[in-house]
Amino acid sequence: MNIILLGPPGAGKGTQAQALMATRGMQQLSTGDMLRAAVKAGTPVGLQAKAVMEAGELVSDAIVSALIGERLDQGVGGGAIFDGYPRTAAQAMALDELLDARGMTLDHVIELEVDEAALIERVEGRYTCATCGEGYHDRFKLPAVAGVCDVCGGTEFKRRPDDNAATVQTRMAEYRAKTAPILPIYEARGLVQRVNGMADIDHVTQAIATILDGEA
Ligand code: AMP
Repeated sequence: MNIILLGPPGAGKGTQAQALMATRGMQQLSTGDMLRAAVKAGTPVGLQAKAVMEAGELVSDAIVSALIGERLDQGVGGGAIFDGYPRTAAQAMALDELLDARGMTLDHVIELEVDEAALIERVEGRYTCATCGEGYHDRFKLPAVAGVCDVCGGTEFKRRPDDNAATVQTRMAEYRAKTAPILPIYEARGLVQRVNGMADIDHVTQAIATILDGEA
């Protein structure tokens, strides 16, 4: 089963992708994570993407679609969870071609519906364990012991440079202008289902499970 998680920054796509990986053996394909890894490694793609990402704008369609193609070729086990891709109509078309060429199909497009004002607070407060990547939030998800990761015991944490108020506004605007308009493409194919992304993390996980199990 291959699915797209769609929603603006902070909607919970990454959190829900992690839950699906843990429970269903699916694989998260996050172009944001791939680009951050490229920036960190200083690859040509990373060098090209760094400033664009820091500004909250979109990296070129050709770059991100190539990253997805390479990742699909490594195999996706129990299925692909596209997180943060596609973000434009051109990427949606590219994804169709990438899947077709590999005999794969798209089963669900799940839109996480959220309140934009609340998202700013969500995004600004989030951080991750520098060792294992577990996600936390200043208000909504604190580690059980302050300063210690619940999962791996790590004591170093990091924040994304683009999770600040000004950049988040640009990222939201990019979502509205370029990503939200791809929903009708998938609606016309009967693939879109909506989930209330403002609910508790566990409730959202449950709502997605209901859709994937064909009960929604
Ligand atoms: P994310 O981790 O999904 O929030 O992505 C972080 C940043 O990476 C975005 O603000 C963009 O600059 C870039 N990015 C990630 N995925 C894409 C994509 N599919 N198309 C264009 N840019 C992307």
